[in-house]
Amino acid sequence: MQLADRVNRISISPTASVLAAAERYRAQGVDLVDFGPGEPDFPTPEHIKRAAIRALEQNRTKYTPTAGIGPLREAICKWHTREFGSSYMPSECVVSVGGKHAIFNALCSLINAGDEVLFAAPYWVSYPDMVKYTGGAPVIIETDPSDGFRLRARQVTRAITPRTKLLIVNSPSNPSGAVVPPDEFVKIYEVCRSRNIWLLTDECYSHFVYGGEKPFSLASVPDSKPHIIVAGSLSKTFAMTGWRLGYALAPEPLISAMVKMQSQSTSNPTSIAQYAALEALTGPMDSVAAMLAEYTRRRDRIVAGLRAIPGVTCTEPGGAFYVFPSVAAHLRNGMADTTVLAGKLLELPHVAVVPGDAFGAPGYIRISYATSMERIEEGLRRLEQFFARAESAS
Ligand code: PMP
Repeated sequence: MQLADRVNRISISPTASVLAAAERYRAQGVDLVDFGPGEPDFPTPEHIKRAAIRALEQNRTKYTPTAGIGPLREAICKWHTREFGSSYMPSECVVSVGGKHAIFNALCSLINAGDEVLFAAPYWVSYPDMVKYTGGAPVIIETDPSDGFRLRARQVTRAITPRTKLLIVNSPSNPSGAVVPPDEFVKIYEVCRSRNIWLLTDECYSHFVYGGEKPFSLASVPDSKPHIIVAGSLSKTFAMTGWRLGYALAPEPLISAMVKMQSQSTSNPTSIAQYAALEALTGPMDSVAAMLAEYTRRRDRIVAGLRAIPGVTCTEPGGAFYVFPSVAAHLRNGMADTTVLAGKLLELPHVAVVPGDAFGAPGYIRISYATSMERIEEGLRRLEQFFARAESAS
């Protein structure tokens, strides 16, 4: 079939194909340890669910303004001010169908054919394809595993060319869990601002930072507003992945362009999800703290467990809910890359992981610890046996 070039330039999300393979095993009744999912294993908090039920009962089931209901745009701005110290107005906010949608619309609104878009590897799988869809050119900045995969200002400076239009920073990062230290983040911003390059900050995992550090947003930097785009999501923070609720904060002309795109494509995000989001952002946030405490416990256990496996090295993630160990030492005996290795892991010890190749990081695998401690223990046992067997076979 003769499909349009713009769609031929992109491919299906590789994380989605791992999820589908895991699902096939599960459907056959296999006892699978699933380290694949990029979503919280916790249910959406009760008070948020109740708000959606109330909205249904009150027949709030019709079109809303394309950019989202007024009270929600206002609540997003207020919440962002409270949590991070930013200063956006509702006219500088659009509610979208997940953070992914906000990033997609921002890129479509800003990137022309041939414009270069920078981001760090390991990267979130959607960045390269979204950029390609716009006709722009993804430019990947390699980060240093011995520096915990943190993006540094000097690396950004080196990657800039006259064609550079925008830099995406994702901190905490999916897949590495790397957190860019706030002072470094500001330096990166200064580099971009001085060269008239947009900085899109993907704050999807903003509230999951470890070690008692306060969540940081670049939007707290005075006068940064004209130069940055904040993309946020309720998916991870409030365990609401299926509700599809995200937002962008940016200068008004850009927000208007993004609203225009929504008006000709998705229209408004689902009405009842917007009322649930309103409750999430104005109600108690105890559940977020409880999730962070549990993720911390799991991170400590899984990092220790992985480091105990010969030939596996693992930096300690500073945020999100992923670990990103190197298994490069085990890539032999018919295991050419981590895609083959992930296939073998799924086939026999029945452990689902995402190959690092998908994130531009060959030799690594992504393990999500958004699963119970009991499954983590079982998964570690299986991984240990798998790598011990691979070792003795060589
Ligand atoms: N950014 C990153 C880094 C992500 O990992 C994700 C979800 N996996 C998103 C954005 C988008 O999330 P959502 O569309 O569910 O808000």
